[in-house]
Formats: sequence, structure tokens, C-alpha cells
Amino acid sequence: MIQNKIKQNYPLAELSTYKIGGPAEYFLQAESQEEIEEAFAFAKAQNLPVTILGGGSNILINDQGVKGLVIKLHNQEIEIKGDEVLCGAGVEVKTIAELAFEKNLSGIEWSIGIPGSMGGAIRGNAGAHGGSFDQVVELVRVFDCEKFLWVDCMPEDCGFAYRSSRFKTEPHYIIWEVQLRLKATEDKTAMEKVMNEYREYRRTSQPKEPSAGCVFKNFFAKDIEEANKDLFARAEKDQKIRGGKIGAGYLIEILNLKGSSIGGAKISEQHANFLVNVEKASAADVRALINKIKTEVKKELAVDMEEEIQYIGF
Ligand SMILES: Cc1cc2nc3c(=O)[nH]c(=O)nc-3n(C[C@H](O)[C@H](O)[C@H](O)COP(=O)(O)OP(=O)(O)OC[C@H]3O[C@@H](n4cnc5c(N)ncnc54)[C@H](O)[C@@H]3O)c2cc1C
Repeated sequence: MIQNKIKQNYPLAELSTYKIGGPAEYFLQAESQEEIEEAFAFAKAQNLPVTILGGGSNILINDQGVKGLVIKLHNQEIEIKGDEVLCGAGVEVKTIAELAFEKNLSGIEWSIGIPGSMGGAIRGNAGAHGGSFDQVVELVRVFDCEKFLWVDCMPEDCGFAYRSSRFKTEPHYIIWEVQLRLKATEDKTAMEKVMNEYREYRRTSQPKEPSAGCVFKNFFAKDIEEANKDLFARAEKDQKIRGGKIGAGYLIEILNLKGSSIGGAKISEQHANFLVNVEKASAADVRALINKIKTEVKKELAVDMEEEIQYIGF
């Protein structure tokens, strides 16, 4: 009986990298497909909204908590056959990146250091250093919680785009597991070298305080060119256009907003797109700071910032 496993008034703050937010009205850590089905049946019968949680590294949870049922995906399955890697949605990205290295499988070296779960990473098409998961996904198994059906999605069905996928735009698809196709390599030294460089880059460029990573999506340079030609020219001159994109942090930086704070939330001095929890910040503090940035950037630079983080329980 799933009811016996579902907890009430369950604290969520520790399940988010921000360490912010109130409790879930109902909470379940789901370990099997049967539990997912039962949990959604329970929520339907009780007329409860359902919220999915992965590693909690890209979310801001409301101080008042989350109404309805929060399901933390905990499918920890890992299976490696040749160059195919099957991962449960609850497995940490870090675990898969390290395991691939151990097994001489190349293709996701860039993912080392991205926190969170494989489910969250596929939904947001997480990426770094020019890599992203759409490059290696072979199959994604999802639960369609509207039709109560399990569906296997081929890459072309996944609607992958920059930090997006069909599973993000159509949230009734719950990612349960994913199959990656990597490339066998003998050159472990090259893999190790590049992974160490990426680790070092994160260590020196990203703040240590609790955060949810980059709060805002970066911009396609052509969109900035359309919205504000002077800003585009300045970014070109400052050599801030990389891979056709302009970092959201650059816009925050040129408005001298680094270091600004509201309550316990602060714009990191180290990385302007990171809003960090420095002194027991509330979700209200973080949100107010996000709104301040959006307002200033719109007023001064005529550009609309869009959040990469997801609001939970708002
Ligand atoms: C220090 C730091 C560095 C970061 N660096 C990067 C980076 O380099 N590149 C990058 O892309 N991101 C980065 N991030 C952001 C974050 O790690 C990624 O977006 C990550 O993929 C989110 O996964 P998660 O499991 O933590 O998702 P969560 O934060 O738990 O959830 C995010 C969203 O996905 C949904 N979701 C989660 N699991 C599932 C599932 N199985 N099925 C359906 N929906 C689901 C949730 O409902 C929520 O809406 C960073 C974050 C931090 C804190």
C-alpha cells in the first residue's frame, strides 16, 4: 500500500541545493514503476497536484512549502552493455560521468561537476563546455501521467533544445530512465585530462555557497543583436560571445549588480548568474533579487531575462 510509504508535512529544504523552502504536504520517494503508478493513482483519487523532484539542484522551493504530493524519483538502476549505459532517473549525473570514465566510455566528460539527477538533466537538457545530453541520448522511458502509460521516446521524439526538452514543455511526462550511447575509447589519459580541467574550472569559477547554479538562461547572440545593438557590439568588443551565446551573468555584471543582496540572498561576486544563499535566505529573498535583476536589465538594457531555475510550490 503506497499510503503507508507516503509521508505528510515532509521537510524539503535539505532536498534542494539552495537549502531553502517549506515542507511538502505529502511526500514519496519512488523506487519502482509500480510505486509511480500507485502514487499518481493516489494523487488523482485525492485530487492532489503532483510535483516531481530530482536532485533539487535547479529549483527554488516556496517558503510556504508545496501543496499536494511531491515525488522524489529514486530509480537507482545502472546497467552497462558495451557502449550503452542505462541509468535510472534518480542516479546522480556525477555517478554516471565517473562510471563512464572508469569503463573507458567517452562522450559525457563535459558533465563532470553538474549536480543533480539524470532525470533532471534530461528534462533540462543539461550541458556544459559545448556538450549537452541530447548528443548522447538513445532512449528515454517516461510515464505519461495523463494517460497512465509508459512510453519509450526516441531522440527525435524528445524535443531537445537549448536547456529544454519535450519533458519540460509537456510536464505530464515523468522521466523514469534513460539510455545513453557513448563511445569506447582507449585514450583514458585524454579523458582524464579534460575532466580534471573541467573540475578545476568549476572549482575556481563557481561559488561555494548554496545555490541552484545559473539562475537565468544565457542568450543567443542574435537575439541580443535584435533587442539592443549597442549591447551586442559591447559584448563583441569584450569578447563575451562564445558558441553563439552571451552569458546572462555578463548583463548582470555590466549593470554593476554583483554583490547586491536582499535579505540572505546575494548575487555572487564570483559568478553573477549565481544567486547564493549566504545568510539563511528565504525563497522570498531569492525571488525578490531575481525580480530586481529582471527589472534593472529590462530598464537599462531592454532585454528580457528568463529563469533557468524552476519555481516549486509558487
Ligand atoms: C553549482 C551548480 C552548478 C550547475 N552547473 C550546471 C551546468 O553546468 N549545466 C547545467 O545544465 N546545469 C547546471 N546546474 C543546474 C542543475 O544542476 C541542472 O539543471 C540539473 O540537471 C538539474 O537536475 P536535478 O535532478 O537537480 O533537477 P531538480 O532541480 O530536482 O528539478 C528541476 C526540474 O526538473 C523536474 N524534474 C526533475 N526530475 C525529473 C524527472 N525524472 N522527470 C520529469 N521532471 C523532472 C523538476 O520537477 C523541476 O521542474 C548547476 C547547478 C548547481 C547548483
